[in-house]
Amino acid sequence: MAYITLKNINKIYPNGFHAVHDFNLEIDKGEFIVFVGPSGCGKSTTLRMIAGLEDISNGDFLINGNRANELGPREREVAMVFQSYALYPQMTVFDNIAFGLTLQGVDEEVIEEKVKKTAAILGLTDYLDRLPRALSGGQRQRVAIGRAIIRKVGIFLMDEPLSNLDAKQRVTMRSEIASIHCETGATTIYVTHDQTEAMTLADRIVVMKDGYVQQIGTPYELYFNPTNVFVAGFIGEPPMNFVRGAVKGGKMAFGTNTIDLKAKMGAKAADYEGKEIIFGFRPESIDLNKTDEAYKISASVELTEMLGDNTNVYITSGEEKAILKVDPHDTPEIDTDIDFYIPYENVYLFDAETEKRVM
Ligand code: ATP
Repeated sequence: MAYITLKNINKIYPNGFHAVHDFNLEIDKGEFIVFVGPSGCGKSTTLRMIAGLEDISNGDFLINGNRANELGPREREVAMVFQSYALYPQMTVFDNIAFGLTLQGVDEEVIEEKVKKTAAILGLTDYLDRLPRALSGGQRQRVAIGRAIIRKVGIFLMDEPLSNLDAKQRVTMRSEIASIHCETGATTIYVTHDQTEAMTLADRIVVMKDGYVQQIGTPYELYFNPTNVFVAGFIGEPPMNFVRGAVKGGKMAFGTNTIDLKAKMGAKAADYEGKEIIFGFRPESIDLNKTDEAYKISASVELTEMLGDNTNVYITSGEEKAILKVDPHDTPEIDTDIDFYIPYENVYLFDAETEKRVM
């Protein structure tokens, strides 16, 4: 039995705005689930419905198989970490972490033991006497996480907990959150708009757009098997390249190049005769050297960005633009023409009308 079940969950705000449509998900105990999507897609609304901070307009929310729609946040046994740390500025790190237990009237010795254990997990042992203002952003966020994990709860909810940190701190905290999850084994639901955070942290990712779930899967499934143009473009950095074109005689144009779709699609290409199709390929899945079973594309190099471990190459062919990710030692000269190869197996095709994956 699933630990948490969301069955046809909808949110319609009092002003009539339908923010979440038929959200379905079953979460196992101990899973790390990430809701990801652009601003306004409904991820925070869904998390807040799970937390009990927002009413569920319709649908069923179950914990351990029992309907929990009407339970308040405390009865649901959830702990939540928000984007803003919301620490008590006049309290030490120790008191901030201990706060929930103190309120519950837990024995002082027990509190001391639990705070010390939590601080050790979070690397805060040396900071217990400090006030929040004497901490870095990352340390403050760790205190906020400590305050949440010290209570024994079944469900740990996090809404963009790293968004106030700088890029370097985000990377460090990301791996800390992963190890805290390993250590506590708490079922976690994490909201972010950052696909890298989603890919690195999640057991399974829920991709949302405009209040609708687009796809639910492991990071591997979403990267290699995206269900539509949105997911294909959202997961991966730089994003997948897309070329839209009309199919004539089983072929389509990629700028000044011609792509024989039959090579990838076989007889299925005939289904798209006279229709539009979207041809997708990831920047990193090309080859600069001639290779069999691949589309050869000629293009001009507009710009290159040497990033150390790879170079992003911005190319154009006719009106089409794309980004290629290549080994830095293979960086081409700007304003030169190059040929590159896209193995058929690395090509994704989408119906241009529905934007659903065809193959
Ligand atoms: P962000 O990353 O910007 O926080 P999100 O994906 O978490 O975005 P939500 O906060 O869940 O998005 O909001 C989803 C949609 O619901 C948005 O269009 C938002 O404007 C709308 N919305 C949120 N709260 C309310 C409200 N109280 N009344 C009406 N509409 C709301």
